[in-house]
Amino acid sequence: MKTTIWTVDKNVDKQEGYQQIAQAAHFLKENEVIAFPTETVYGLGGNAKSDVAVAKIFAAKGRPSDNPLIMHIADKNQLKDIVEEIPEKAHLLIDQFWPGPLTIIFRKKEGVLSEKATAGLPTVAVRMPDHPIALALIAESGLPIAAPSANRSGKPSPTTANHVFEDLDGRIPGIVDGGSTGVGVESTVVDCTEEIPTILRPGGITKEQLEAVVGEVRVDPALADENQAPKAPGMKYKHYAPNAPLYLVNGTQSFIQKLVDEKQKQGQVVGVLTTEEHQGDYRADYIFACGRRSDLKTVANFLYKVLRSFNRSSVDVIYSEMFPTEGVGQAIMNRLMKAAGGKIIEETSEK
Ligand code: AMP
Ligand code: MG
Repeated sequence: MKTTIWTVDKNVDKQEGYQQIAQAAHFLKENEVIAFPTETVYGLGGNAKSDVAVAKIFAAKGRPSDNPLIMHIADKNQLKDIVEEIPEKAHLLIDQFWPGPLTIIFRKKEGVLSEKATAGLPTVAVRMPDHPIALALIAESGLPIAAPSANRSGKPSPTTANHVFEDLDGRIPGIVDGGSTGVGVESTVVDCTEEIPTILRPGGITKEQLEAVVGEVRVDPALADENQAPKAPGMKYKHYAPNAPLYLVNGTQSFIQKLVDEKQKQGQVVGVLTTEEHQGDYRADYIFACGRRSDLKTVANFLYKVLRSFNRSSVDVIYSEMFPTEGVGQAIMNRLMKAAGGKIIEETSEK
């Protein structure tokens, strides 16, 4: 299959770029799947009502079928067509954070969406993305659009159209290229089907931000405990992984340097994931700075890009600094832990 790329300016309007949006939307209406930018990462969208379209999403990604998708809407009015009820706290969150990087779990309206899209669950995940291209495309299709991240399953999520092309060239008919995405990590997933909202996946909107609007917010205990089954089925999979083994290091730069030196002595090619502040402190084969530690939003922004850069290098092993789990740091550490398959080296235990 030939993969068409439509380049569209982010500030799409009715004149400029609308032809391309209309073409891409046509594919969606025909139950084909299209990649497009959102403010978090690139999504791979298809008609959420169609089993045929949804099956194509799972096939293109190689995604396990028990991992439900997020439905994307362009207008808050689309919500009532797909959910059974909108609880009061969900209303408050929608007013504050939509459009934006917040996915809310509702009880679903039966018989509307493809059962494959929701993996047969009685609930549905919905969000309204804050990106002019995503909104224009969804509105033009007139459909709720089921869209996971537009990467092959298990790989880092794509933050540029090029990343999508690397993973899905020949597997999908088209990519809308709207430049780099903004947030860089996926949406926060919050379950509003029970009295106290529960975060199932940390993301672009922080726990603190949610609490400021609805009071108490819980975090799914499984996020901190590998032995518990997470409530967001997707959180149980290994994810975001670079090709070489990645170790998170809880220690000083000089300790990390010692680990690098040891591996190099054994003839291995070694990479370090750091930030601009410490970039100059290391001697290694590949040193990639992921934003600035002083502004964790920039780390989130570049995280997947850096993980993909390691894949283009010849590293045998990667050591990464760790980050505080405050604000968006929670999402950063959640993704890094998954990318590392939970492997942490503690400086104290090595002494
Ligand atoms: P992705 O599409 O890769 O960004 O992942 C979507 C995340 O939302 C996955 O972790 C899913 O398991 C989760 N999710 C989607 N629908 C539901 C649902 N109905 N209940 C709980 N988690 C969900
Ligand atoms: Mg994903």
